[in-house]
Amino acid sequence: MTSRPITGTTLLDVNGLQKIYQSGGRSVEAVRDLTFGVGTGELVCIVGPSGSGKTTLLKCIAGLMGATSGEVVLEGDRVTGPPAGMAVVFQEYGRSLFPWMTVRQNVELPLKEKRIRKPERQRLVREALDAVGLGHVGDSHPWQLSGGMQQRVAIARAVAYEPQILLMDEPFAAVDAQTRADLEDLVLTLWKRLGVTILFVTHDIDESVYLGQRVIVLSSSPTVVMAEVAVDLPGERDQLTTRSEPRFAELRSHIYTLIQQAKEGRRPDATA
Ligand code: ADP
Ligand code: MG
Repeated sequence: MTSRPITGTTLLDVNGLQKIYQSGGRSVEAVRDLTFGVGTGELVCIVGPSGSGKTTLLKCIAGLMGATSGEVVLEGDRVTGPPAGMAVVFQEYGRSLFPWMTVRQNVELPLKEKRIRKPERQRLVREALDAVGLGHVGDSHPWQLSGGMQQRVAIARAVAYEPQILLMDEPFAAVDAQTRADLEDLVLTLWKRLGVTILFVTHDIDESVYLGQRVIVLSSSPTVVMAEVAVDLPGERDQLTTRSEPRFAELRSHIYTLIQQAKEGRRPDATA
């Protein structure tokens, strides 16, 4: 199970990223040294133990928080604040949608901020809601919808924005198993149809293998990259067939072993 070098153009580069938090007079080195790239059109998953700095990493990539050292480069430009070509979907859909706005207004808001004209906005909102199967609830308010539907609204909002890269931070951790499987397939469908680049963070090993073309495994905090695993499964994924393939099981146990080692404090050989 070798790492696969990135082919094609690199859209996102994370170079020697380090993040030290200052809290209560103490320094906490959450992330020590992360270096990896994401190619244009790739779907890359990041897995790591809880507390390994996954959210920290994503916030630095999204320009929501400065790094202590190192840099994030998107299409050759160093990220110093939220880049125009990026959209983020967080785990807490309940907190990410505005309850006083309708579903349609929620999806439309970032497009207004992007100064897209009204007819174009209306088209993008309609297409995004249709794409996530919510064309019929545009006039509802988020609190009238189930958790899974709310998360689909958040995905529609990100998709309507037409980002170059979509960051997702454990977006399905709070929904039930059946909804989760549906949302995973929705992400795969949108990824294929729109050709968007996706960086998907999860602590769920199976989810990372099911979705990813490549899985980056993080060590425990202070975090470095433990390993990069190419997911050499067929491109067409299907909840039943893919998950019952012997290769799926092999990849899952390989990553499981790496995560167990990470939890025990093992570092990759280069930094041991
Ligand atoms: P993950 O998303 O992988 O669970 P986080 O990025 O949330 O990990 O956290 C990584 C480490 O950084 C943890 O030890 C956490 O306690 C610490 N941390 C996260 N946010 C802060 C903060 N604002 N101040 C201080 N420490 C933080
Ligand atoms: Mg997190």
